[in-house]
Amino acid sequence: VIGLTYLIDMISGDELGNVAVHGEPAKIAAVKQHLFDDALFPVPPAFQLKPLEQSHALGGGGTLTHFPLHHPGGSVGYRLDWPDRSMAYVSDTTALPNADYIEKIRGVDLLVHEANFADDAQEMAILTGHSWLSNVAQVAADAEVGRLVLVHLNAQLKSDTELDIAGMRRIFKHTEIGTDRMEIEF
Ligand SMILES: [Zn+2]
Repeated sequence: VIGLTYLIDMISGDELGNVAVHGEPAKIAAVKQHLFDDALFPVPPAFQLKPLEQSHALGGGGTLTHFPLHHPGGSVGYRLDWPDRSMAYVSDTTALPNADYIEKIRGVDLLVHEANFADDAQEMAILTGHSWLSNVAQVAADAEVGRLVLVHLNAQLKSDTELDIAGMRRIFKHTEIGTDRMEIEF
């Protein structure tokens, strides 16, 4: 949520024209009331805040749908389906073998999933509503997705080599680490 203030900078140039931020009505109200409060950030955002519809049409005949995730304060996962391909974006939740969102992401070609914690930090992952590596791989396998790209990695890691990708690939072979400005063909 705090990243919304950085958007103001990004959309001041010519590259991005009309920007709308979609969110759950209660979250939008809280953002307006708290984040853009006069005492904190008294700059009106140059984007529209719109309620998130149950489904949203995308270019190329696609549809975006969403589903709730378990996270302190709530979180939302997204599924994007086009006639010839599909993807899901899941962040800020604890990947568990019986997670109800597995059915929502079943069979997507590409799953972008957070993987903030290593397997030795499961307690912290649960406390903060995030995931650890092996469970993310297991969710990808259980949901029978095509590929898994990891995001929301632990910012304290000095290098991606500290991630046990080999261990994840033993559970789900097609696992990759997401990087800034990465473009994914799928
Ligand atoms: Zn997070």
